[in-house]
Amino acid sequence: MTIINRYNRQEILPEISEKGQGMLWKRSVAIIGIGALGSVTASLLARIGIRKLLVWDRDIVEKHNLQRQMIFTEDDINKPKAAQATAYMQKVNSEITIEAETTELNPETIHTLKNYDLILDCTDNMETRFLINDFCVKNKIPWIYSSAVGTKGRLLTIVPEKTPCFRCLFSHPKPGSLETCDTIGVLNTITTTIAALQVTEAIKILTKQEPTKELLAYDVWTQQLDKIRVKRKRECLCCHKQKFDFLVGKEEIATIKLCGQGRVQIKGKKPNMDELNNRLEKVGKVKISSYGIYFISKETDFFLFNDGRCLIKAWTKEHGKSLYGKYVGN
Ligand SMILES: [Zn+2]
Repeated sequence: MTIINRYNRQEILPEISEKGQGMLWKRSVAIIGIGALGSVTASLLARIGIRKLLVWDRDIVEKHNLQRQMIFTEDDINKPKAAQATAYMQKVNSEITIEAETTELNPETIHTLKNYDLILDCTDNMETRFLINDFCVKNKIPWIYSSAVGTKGRLLTIVPEKTPCFRCLFSHPKPGSLETCDTIGVLNTITTTIAALQVTEAIKILTKQEPTKELLAYDVWTQQLDKIRVKRKRECLCCHKQKFDFLVGKEEIATIKLCGQGRVQIKGKKPNMDELNNRLEKVGKVKISSYGIYFISKETDFFLFNDGRCLIKAWTKEHGKSLYGKYVGN
């Protein structure tokens, strides 16, 4: 009797073969952002037999995420996305290593990605993409840009020294000038399609095959597909001049309003969790996990991460600060 291994259906494909499967098993991939794109990407990657995965997301699961974030269920609401995604992926494949990161991706924390073979951008903002681009060009790590808004999506594979970089193509946008899911919505079939294409490109990179060089733009509604040839910018500040502006730490923003979620992020001091827990239990319900605590009262609810970062339900920044002062202190 032949024992069919779990990756057999992939191995019999000439595009992958046993050799490619062996290569996948030696690789590590970091997924940045576990939203609509990231949850599909993470689920697919957990199944194809990559030795080590990292899932990075600073948010908690909200009810309105379930429309498109395919690995979450109602049980995951108000829990950290990275932690819940890891638990799901580990159920899918217990033979691989998966790590969760719940901090913010910024110039200080991005060095965590140094030893990964490939970085997948599943974020929703240009700022983070420019940061990933600087980091990857500097450290010569391939990465794959993906985005989806409305019914349209985009995908581009960037291999430092071989292809144009992200900054060759896009200039840094003015804040608030871009369309986002929060302002025009998004169909879950475009995020799923783009994520599937991203994982296909990832397999090519990880098995040392030629990735698609063009920028792909697809509208899932009209089925219009464009492959756009991209060129290296002669004077590109990043890949040509090696100026990594986005890796230079800017002043940290202590309080920000997270759009579309009705939440405010506050970076406080590292709390004494036991003391805080005792205090909060008197005024509401507290749920403790290894990533932090979730608190809910009539007035608000928040997730306080172990490092002191708090995602609190509030109307404005000021409202968030005042609620934070009332319940958490410091
Ligand atoms: Zn460039």
